[in-house]
Amino acid sequence: MKKLSKHVGFGGTSAMVGAMIGAMAGTFSPNAFADEFPSKTITMVIPFAAGGPTDTVGRLVGQSMGKELKQTVIIENVGGAGGTVGAAKVARSAPDGYTIFLHHIGHSTAPALYKKMSYNPIDDFEPIGLVTDVPMTIVARKDFPAKDFKEMVTYVKANAAKLNYANAGLGSASHLCGMLFMSTVEADMTTVPFKGTGPAMTDLLAGQVDLMCDQTTNTTSQIKGEKIKAYAVTTKNKVPSLPDIPTADSQGLKGFDVAVWHGLYAPKATPKPALDKLQAALLVALKDPEVVKRMADLGTEPVAPARATPAALKAHLKSEIDRWGPIIKKAGVYAD
Ligand code: ASP
Repeated sequence: MKKLSKHVGFGGTSAMVGAMIGAMAGTFSPNAFADEFPSKTITMVIPFAAGGPTDTVGRLVGQSMGKELKQTVIIENVGGAGGTVGAAKVARSAPDGYTIFLHHIGHSTAPALYKKMSYNPIDDFEPIGLVTDVPMTIVARKDFPAKDFKEMVTYVKANAAKLNYANAGLGSASHLCGMLFMSTVEADMTTVPFKGTGPAMTDLLAGQVDLMCDQTTNTTSQIKGEKIKAYAVTTKNKVPSLPDIPTADSQGLKGFDVAVWHGLYAPKATPKPALDKLQAALLVALKDPEVVKRMADLGTEPVAPARATPAALKAHLKSEIDRWGPIIKKAGVYAD
């Protein structure tokens, strides 16, 4: 793997399945499938470790979708390499409606970062819908020697060589935000990759890593419990659930604006009746008062119904791939 801790100059911040199942079972009736789906447990693959922000969103939405579908949605955490290990697994999974996949912005950055990929983020997946856009926070271990953002930046610039910065691997949101931060303040800390920011948070809480940039879905309760220090939120506007944390933009990092979009997918060629039911359940989950409340507590909200659609996710993924590709190439950041 090539070194990726270099500064990144970011510019601102079925028919086929019918035939397959028919061949296996001898017969295939799309109508019977549509009526019966889902008749067993659904697995939602999360391409990061348990306990992290993507996992939190997945469990929340999956549980509510399960209520609607009258089947359990279990979570399978397949972390590693910024989400590409989990994505590769889903791309190879049976397209039968029983495997779904929650990923984030990393699904769009991977093609530019990884030279060799065993899957194509667009061609190997069926989009179901966008889920939520989550702000991030720049946080540090509790005893980090800086009382505010300005002092933190000064300290980081003076001590970059001895500081480390946790992330969830190349192309993860924490990686992108950290690279953007380091390039903006011109400080090159050592990056420490984890299989997700759940375990990274454990090490931050233990003081074993110094800094991290991560979704509010992972940092809010630790910030409120004063277990970590928070220096900034990464969005243009402040986050209502963290009213005391100023934006990075307002503290000198003009134009710093990073939020992490999440999308729900299925493997390519998943039958349309299953996709339709999954999407309908997603829409219900995103309006579920419990989901809305919990997301609000964690600094985010579900996307509007018009965005929780296959067409909206497909268009967004494509535009994000187009947006990130040139930025990442220009920065010369890549992995083998
Ligand atoms: N927050 C992580 C990221 O940096 C992923 C996770 O563990 O959810 O992409």
